Amino acid sequence: MNNNWRGALVRRLLLLVGGCLLLGLLTGAYAWILAIGLATYLCWHLGQLLRLHRWLKEQPDEPPPDGYGLWGEVFDSIYHLQRRNEKARGRLQAVIDRVQESTAALKDAVIMLDSQGNLEWWNRAAETLLGLKTPQDSGQSISNLVRDPRFKEYFDKGSYQEPLDLPSPVNGNRRLQFHITQYGNREHLMLVRDVTRIHQLEQMRKDFVANVSHELRTPLTVISGYLETLLDNVEAVNPRWLRPLQQMQQQGGRMQNLLNDLLLLAKLEATDYPSDNHPVAIDLLLLSIKNDAQALSGDRGHRISLEADAHLKLKGSEAELRSAFSNLVFNAVKYTPDEGQIHIRWWADEQGAHLAVQDSGLGIEAKHLPRLTERFYRVDSSRASNTGGTGLGLAIVKHVLLRHRGRLEISSRLGKGSTFTCHFPGSQMVRRPQ
Ligand code: ADP
Repeated sequence: MNNNWRGALVRRLLLLVGGCLLLGLLTGAYAWILAIGLATYLCWHLGQLLRLHRWLKEQPDEPPPDGYGLWGEVFDSIYHLQRRNEKARGRLQAVIDRVQESTAALKDAVIMLDSQGNLEWWNRAAETLLGLKTPQDSGQSISNLVRDPRFKEYFDKGSYQEPLDLPSPVNGNRRLQFHITQYGNREHLMLVRDVTRIHQLEQMRKDFVANVSHELRTPLTVISGYLETLLDNVEAVNPRWLRPLQQMQQQGGRMQNLLNDLLLLAKLEATDYPSDNHPVAIDLLLLSIKNDAQALSGDRGHRISLEADAHLKLKGSEAELRSAFSNLVFNAVKYTPDEGQIHIRWWADEQGAHLAVQDSGLGIEAKHLPRLTERFYRVDSSRASNTGGTGLGLAIVKHVLLRHRGRLEISSRLGKGSTFTCHFPGSQMVRRPQ
């Protein structure tokens, strides 16, 4: 209330009291006249209050009723406040409508979930891609609607750096990619893209590599067979041809290794998880790999030691784990100079199970480490071709670990040696009672 209104109110009250006192002087009943005067004034105010109440309750959108004095001012202020709020609400609604229109036009599904993973809002594409129904599914848990166990596992894990690819729950031929972002009070924003086309191209690439590798195998076996026969009858061969034949046989062997590795990679890529999931006795597996490594080292005199927890097993495919671990151990032999040391360790702690292969070999420059598991990536191609490597070994290791929910850590110092460590989560390990 500004000072003008306060003055007017005081003046009016004084006028009323003055009038009443004058009347009281004339009639002699001061108290009664004053009481009647003040009661009338109070009734008038109550009447104005009632008008305000009726207006707000019955016709708040209509202009306010005429008010006298301060009450008129109150009516007008409330009316202006209401109009201002209405305009702000209209502007907000327009923004919401535009956002909804633009997300409705998106080909990708946009879904908002609360902190428990219950559906709060989604756009039209979510209905076609995931089969969500408006409004029945509102408040439903997303894992009830996307029933693939991999989705539940991904959602519950809470780390969403990598997107998740799954078949669509409404059409098994379509492939969807799920991206989740957390915002606000642990609410989730989920974006779902149709990646069927990319998936098909990727599948074509895998099939092509697998088919070519498979088709090349037979001619190569024939060529290698003839070369072997020729070299077995070395006396019948012109001596000038001996060295070329030997080189042909050696390169044929390399090609065969390459094809075997490519076929193994294609097989690993064909499914997400190994078909068998039995507890594998890693200590025995490592013992046999160690013996093979010792044979590979031959007279190069590597000192290979093994320290393995005999009570600790790992769930998975023995054949796949053998190929991954032997790749690491054989690499250590290949890239460690004669008489070098190689230590293999298999143990478990609170974080899970671990396998480390440590060597005192050539080591790798830090800049190469992030790319080592790429196919055909080699630190030094001349060095690798001498060792008969295919450049696919670490790619196989990475794939096998992924399929066993594990990851590979590489630490190395040039000239000092390298340590390749496979980390597996606790859920993959089985402890035999001691
Ligand atoms: P390759 O068949 O050539 O050995 P890998 O994928 O097994 O292919 O390894 C990729 C590259 O990583 C190798 O060419 C080699 O340069 C490097 N590398 C792998 N293991 C070791 C190691 N223990 N010490 C040094 N370098 C290594």
